[in-house]
Amino acid sequence: MKVTDKIKESKSPLLSFEILPPLKGKSIQSIYDSIDPLMEFKPAFVNVTYHREEYVYKKREKGFLEKVSIRKRPGTVGICAALINKYDVEAVPHLICGGFTREETENALIDLYFLGIKNVLALRGDPIKTEQHFVPEEGGNNYAIDLVRQINNLNKGIYNDEDMINAMPTDFSIGVAGYPEKHFEAPNIETDLMHLKRKIDAGAEYIVTQLFYDNKKFFDFVKLCRGAGIDVPIIPGIKPITRKSQISLLSKFFHVSLPYDLSKELDAARNESEVADLGVKWAADQCRELLQEGVPCLHFYTMGKSSAAKRVVEQIF
Ligand code: FAD
Repeated sequence: MKVTDKIKESKSPLLSFEILPPLKGKSIQSIYDSIDPLMEFKPAFVNVTYHREEYVYKKREKGFLEKVSIRKRPGTVGICAALINKYDVEAVPHLICGGFTREETENALIDLYFLGIKNVLALRGDPIKTEQHFVPEEGGNNYAIDLVRQINNLNKGIYNDEDMINAMPTDFSIGVAGYPEKHFEAPNIETDLMHLKRKIDAGAEYIVTQLFYDNKKFFDFVKLCRGAGIDVPIIPGIKPITRKSQISLLSKFFHVSLPYDLSKELDAARNESEVADLGVKWAADQCRELLQEGVPCLHFYTMGKSSAAKRVVEQIF
C-alpha cells in the first residue's frame, strides 16, 4: 500500500523507522536484530537507506597507490524484499542519483516493482568525500527532481528506450527529502523551497524531513511550504541523541543545529548513559508536541540502533 494512502486512511498518526543496510560482509540477521524490537509498534513503513560507493587509495607494489571503489553497505533492494517477507511491512527503499546511470536506475526500479515494492524515496545523495560538489554519473540524474521525473515517467510507461511500445506503466509512490533548516548547499530557504515545490510538481507525493531538534524550525518550515503551495503530507524526521560526540557531529554531517538548552544539558551530562536519557527525553517531548500539532506520521532515524527510538516510542504510542 502507498505511504500516502496509509496516511489518508489512518485515523491516528503513523509511525515509521529508517534503517541502515549492514556493512558489507554482515548478514541480514543484523538487520533483523536491530528492527525486531521495533516491530511490536506496528510501523506503517520502514525505510532502507542507500549508501553509494566510496573511494580509498590502497598501497600496491613499488609504492604505487591504486584508487579502489568500495561499497560499504550494499543490498537495499534485497533488504527491502527480506523485510516484506519476514514482517509483512511496507518497505521504502531510498534511491539516489549519485553513482547511477539512468539505465541502472531504471533496472533497479524494475526489480523493485517486480518485488511488489511501490514506495520509494527519491534523493540526490551527497557528494563523495573526494568531491567538492556533487558530480552525477555520466548518463545519470543530476538532482532529485530528475530522478522523480524518471520514476514518474515510468509510472506513465515511458522508459529510457523511447521506442518501446506498450511498455508496462509502474505505480510508484514517490517521497522526497525536505530540510527545515534548509539544505546546506541552498543559498537561502526560499530557493530551497522553490526546488522542493518543483519536486512535488514533478510527481512526488510526500516529504520526509531531515532530522531537527527545534520543533519551531519544523513548524516554520511547514508554514513556508504551505505558503509556497506545497500541500502534500510533511513527515518530521526524529533522531534521539545517544552520544555526547553527536553535539558536534550532527551539525557537521547533517547540517542541523541544536537548541542551546539541549546542547548545554548534554554537555553537562556526566556519562553516556545520562546523555542517552536526555536524548530520549528531548525526542519524546518533541514527538508529543508534533503530535499535538497534527503531524501525519513520526519518522525515526535509527541509524542501526533501535534502543533509543524504542524508548521514545514506548512513551508516545
Ligand atoms: P535535491 O532535491 O536535488 O537538492 C540538492 C540541492 O540542490 C539543494 O540545495 C536544492 O535546493 C538544490 N537544487 C535542487 N534542484 C535544483 C536545480 N534544478 N537547480 C539548482 N539547484 C537545485 N543520502 C544518501 O546518500 N542515502 C540515503 O539513503 C539518504 N536518505 C535521506 C533521507 C532523508 C529523509 C533526507 C532528508 C536525506 C537523505 N539523504 C540520503 C541525504 C541527501 O541525499 C542529501 O541531503 C543530498 O545532499 C540532497 O539530496 P536531495 O534529494 O534533497 O537533493
